Amino acid sequence: MPDRTRFLGKTFVAAGAAAALALATAIPAAAAAPATVEQDVAQLYQDVIDLYDGLPADALRNVDRLIDSPVPRVGQRSRAADGPIPGCTEGSLLTYANKLAAQLTPLEGQALDALSGLSQLYVQGVTSDKAPQVFGTDGQYTGRATATIDKLRGFWDIESWNIQLVAWKGTDLGSQAKMAQTFSLGLAPAKVKAAAALATKVLYEVPVLQGGRNPLITLNAFSAPAGSLGGKRVALGDGLLDTVNALGFDDVSVESVIGHEYGHQVDFAHENYPRNESSEMGPDAYGGYFVAHAKGFAWNARTQQEVTYLDASIGDCYHSHGTPDQRKAAGAWGEKQATTQANPNRVIPSATMIDKFQKVYPKLMPPATAPQAAVAAAHG
Ligand SMILES: [Zn+2]
Repeated sequence: MPDRTRFLGKTFVAAGAAAALALATAIPAAAAAPATVEQDVAQLYQDVIDLYDGLPADALRNVDRLIDSPVPRVGQRSRAADGPIPGCTEGSLLTYANKLAAQLTPLEGQALDALSGLSQLYVQGVTSDKAPQVFGTDGQYTGRATATIDKLRGFWDIESWNIQLVAWKGTDLGSQAKMAQTFSLGLAPAKVKAAAALATKVLYEVPVLQGGRNPLITLNAFSAPAGSLGGKRVALGDGLLDTVNALGFDDVSVESVIGHEYGHQVDFAHENYPRNESSEMGPDAYGGYFVAHAKGFAWNARTQQEVTYLDASIGDCYHSHGTPDQRKAAGAWGEKQATTQANPNRVIPSATMIDKFQKVYPKLMPPATAPQAAVAAAHG
């Protein structure tokens, strides 16, 4: 399967086949009777598959998501090939999100998966920070998000003026105009209007979606490089902020997550695309350096520690994004670089920071999982 379908969510491929089948059997009845919710969801799901299949070849290349989005059932199947790392317990945020996802019926899960993929594409390919961005379901994080991106642009020595920070909001799914723009990115023009109308219809006819406010729809953040659809940007999901708040990390959420996602931009700028856990642990380290640094947020030891716990909360037990222990160690290493350097006001050049981290990161792999590093390398 091409990378782009995987982008939508873990259930996508297998459920897509089921959706296509449902469609085929539904066609004779659809002409006579009004569409049922099941038919609407199946049609929308197919529209979103067609949209993703119609995107330009590099649209999703190297776009990096914070977590594997938690959608029910099929996810475990897609990961079964590797199996979880023995002795590892996934982070608290993933546990929480998986619990939310497990409460959905198959129909709700399918609707949520399609709409999450659609809203992700809207924020990646249509939104622009030329329009004011509102962070958090009630705009409560807008000030912090703006302050963080401003600080980051001055902190790291990479081209920064053209890195957009955009808000990923489930409520954008309620706008037929926005959804028509989104479907236009890849769907056949003749189908765009109906698909956009169907997206907003499903949003309100499946109650659990809460008109776009179900946190699972936007429970993520991502960083996109130049050359991908929409260009360089960091997107921050309202659902992620709500969930991090529920877990008690609210006072560090916005700064930590944007600091991490901006860390991917640091790697992108130097064309550093490691094929191992350091691709996620690196941005954790750069983010830690930023929040602890005198020219960053200069957070104190207690707050720095909270950041490392947040890093751990999004660790998984597969060789993809780093385990909780690995991510915590990477964040703490970055913070230590800031607090132990001779001149607290000096910011290490980003290229030097990348080199330093690439040298140290094998040592940050806890002993219990160290033998697995060879397996990860073989996968790369
Ligand atoms: Zn990341």
